[in-house]
Amino acid sequence: MTVPTITLNDGTRIPQLGLGVWKMEDGAVSGIIRSALGAGYRHIDTAAAYGNEAGVGRGIAECDLPREEIFVTSKLWNDKQGYDAALRGFDETMGKLGLDRLDLYLIHWPMPHQGLYVETWKALIRLREEGRVRAIGVSNFLPDHLERLIEETGEAPAINQIELHPRFQQAAQREVHRKLGIATECWSPLGQGEALAHPDLKRIGARYAKSPAQVILRWQMQLGCVSIPKSANHERLRENISIFDFELTEEEMAQIKELDAGEGRIGPDPATARF
Ligand code: NAD
Repeated sequence: MTVPTITLNDGTRIPQLGLGVWKMEDGAVSGIIRSALGAGYRHIDTAAAYGNEAGVGRGIAECDLPREEIFVTSKLWNDKQGYDAALRGFDETMGKLGLDRLDLYLIHWPMPHQGLYVETWKALIRLREEGRVRAIGVSNFLPDHLERLIEETGEAPAINQIELHPRFQQAAQREVHRKLGIATECWSPLGQGEALAHPDLKRIGARYAKSPAQVILRWQMQLGCVSIPKSANHERLRENISIFDFELTEEEMAQIKELDAGEGRIGPDPATARF
C-alpha cells in the first residue's frame, strides 16, 4: 500500500497517513514500528513527552529501509519552551532518536500563560535554517496563536497538529489553516476509539466492505488532512492503511459532516491547558 504525500508550504512532502505512537512503551515501540513499516507506513509521529523517542530511533535503525524513506516527527515539550531551552530540547530529542536530521519538529502546545511560544518558534526557524530539521510546525495552536507567530516572525508553520475526529471536526480552524497556507494534521483521529461505533459510519463502510475506522480515516484524507492513527495491533495497522482503494461520495462526506457534536473535544482546551 503506497500512501500519497501532501506538499507543505515549504515544499516538504509528508505522507498523508502516519503512525501515532503515544502511550507505546519505549521497549515495545520498535517492534510495532517494524510491523508498521512492513504494512507500508512511512511516517511516524512521536514526541519528547511520549518517553519513547529512543525506541522509535531503534525501530528506524533496525529496519532495512533507507533513512530518507521514513518521515519522522517529534515535538518539543512545554517545559522546554523559550529560545535556548528549545535548542537544548531539540538536541535531547535528536540524541534519543539517534538521527542527524528530523523531518518535522512541532511545538507540542502553545501554553499561552507561559508567554514563550514566539521565542520558541524563532528557535525552530533557526533549526530549519541550519538544516537540522526539514519542516517546522506547531500543535494545538489556536488561530490567535498562529496569527501572532506570523505577525512577529513572518513565518507561518508548515502544519498544525490538532484534535480532529467526527465528533470534533474543527471546520473553522481548518478554514483558518487554509487561508494561512498551513496543513492540518489530525490527532486522536479515531476519537481514541470512541468514534467507531456510530451506525452511519458502519452503514457507509458496509457499502465498500470497509470498517468505521477506515471510513473515518478516508474522510480525513478527502478533507486534505494528514492523519496519525495509533494501533499496536498488526491487523489494525494494516486495516488503517488500507484506505486508498475506495472513495467516499460527496453525499457520504456530507453525512459524516453531520456527526460533528460542536464541543466534542476529548483533550484539553489549548487556550487554558496547563501541564
Ligand atoms: P486514536 O484516535 O488514534 O485512537 C487510538 C485507539 O483506537 C486505540 O485504543 C486503538 O486500539 C484504537 N484503534 C486503532 N485502530 C483501530 C481500528 N482499526 N479499529 C478499532 N479500534 C482501533 O487516538 P490517539 O492515540 O489519542 O491519537 C493518535 C496519535 O495522535 C497519538 O498516538 C499521537 O501520536 C497523536 N496525539 C497528539 C496529541 C497532541 O497534543 N499533539 C494528542 C494526542 C494524540
